[in-house]
Amino acid sequence: MTNIANFRRSRRASALNLSEIAHVSDAAEALRAAGKPVLTFGTGEPDFPTPVHVIEAAHQAALRGDTTYTSTQGTPALRQAVADQAGFETDPAEVLISTGAKQVLSNALLATVDPGDEVIVPAPYWTSYSDIIDFCEATLVSVPCPASSGFLLTPEALEMAITDKTRWLMLNSPGNPSGVMYSADQLRALADVLRRYPHVWILADEIYQHIAYVPFTSFRNAAPDLADRTLIVNGVSKAYAMTGWRIGWGIGPVPLIKAMTAIQGQSTSGACSVAQAASVAALTGPQDHLETRSTEFRARRDLVVQGLNAIDGLICPEPSGAFYVFPSCSGVFGQVTPQGKTIETDADYCSYLLDEALVALVPGRAFGLPGYFRLSYAYSKAELREGLRRIAAATAELK
Ligand code: PMP
Repeated sequence: MTNIANFRRSRRASALNLSEIAHVSDAAEALRAAGKPVLTFGTGEPDFPTPVHVIEAAHQAALRGDTTYTSTQGTPALRQAVADQAGFETDPAEVLISTGAKQVLSNALLATVDPGDEVIVPAPYWTSYSDIIDFCEATLVSVPCPASSGFLLTPEALEMAITDKTRWLMLNSPGNPSGVMYSADQLRALADVLRRYPHVWILADEIYQHIAYVPFTSFRNAAPDLADRTLIVNGVSKAYAMTGWRIGWGIGPVPLIKAMTAIQGQSTSGACSVAQAASVAALTGPQDHLETRSTEFRARRDLVVQGLNAIDGLICPEPSGAFYVFPSCSGVFGQVTPQGKTIETDADYCSYLLDEALVALVPGRAFGLPGYFRLSYAYSKAELREGLRRIAAATAELK
């Protein structure tokens, strides 16, 4: 028998916890296994299939022999396609292809931060930001950006958060989980502050670029003069419904891209060859589905925002992009469930809804901003309507 008594996690591994999103999925799965009809609004992936021409391109690539290692930085064809569609001046030397945008984030931090370095992140933020920062032994500087400020980081709050130790500002627009989108003017106002602090780099995660209900501006276009310290992060997961293909990219100054490539070279090497070929087809093929899907997401957003705002105790701001809403639930705090339990936190409310309404949602504290919860509306309208009905009924039971 294996002796596991002497197993010891590294300090780095100990910093990682199972994400709250994974906890919620596990709890929902356990109920489902027990035969309960749970509705899960927890995950962040489009419910559409990958476009057929993309799948065909992958098939052809495999048949033609694109089945070997690629260059660590990514195939020339994909780096060229990424540069061509970026929407700003760049070239393939400034592009790194990784196994998902998530790996771009970890490459960037592993390549640049040392213990004690600070990374500023407006909250609410995607849960993995804080985990990756912890894993890289840097320090998260979370700046609360509540609904009252439109979930937006203000120039004043940014300036207050900057210290000598700041390495990065991580900005996510359109944002997960709030759906916030920064206008060109709002980005320029942040850039005005950043110009005064040349030691601060900007990581602009624009992975929801194509799921936008107001015009999208890339940070690179709002502040082209800061390009030499800006990393743009994007990928095919959300726009092309390709989460499982695991292709994302970073576009940034060559020295940063080289350092990130060196890190990736000792973990995964080049991303999957067939998935890179498929991504070329995604980026260079027909783009009409982007608009059709965005229109569908907008209709779902409207349905969900309206449904949640009709429930006493919830306030749901209207998001401008991505496929999440982030309503406040502090209006139900202090109320008592039929079982006699007082709802004191967003986590209490979400666990009540899971048990009573069989609806799985993620509490705001997982995103660094308690008092809210996240609902992903990348689900069919029928599921969303049923979910809203259940949330409304269970919330009405609170006294
Ligand atoms: N950034 C944000 C804000 C996300 O929500 C996600 C996926 N949930 C990612 C990056 C990672 O995307 P992927 O690794 O699938 O490319």
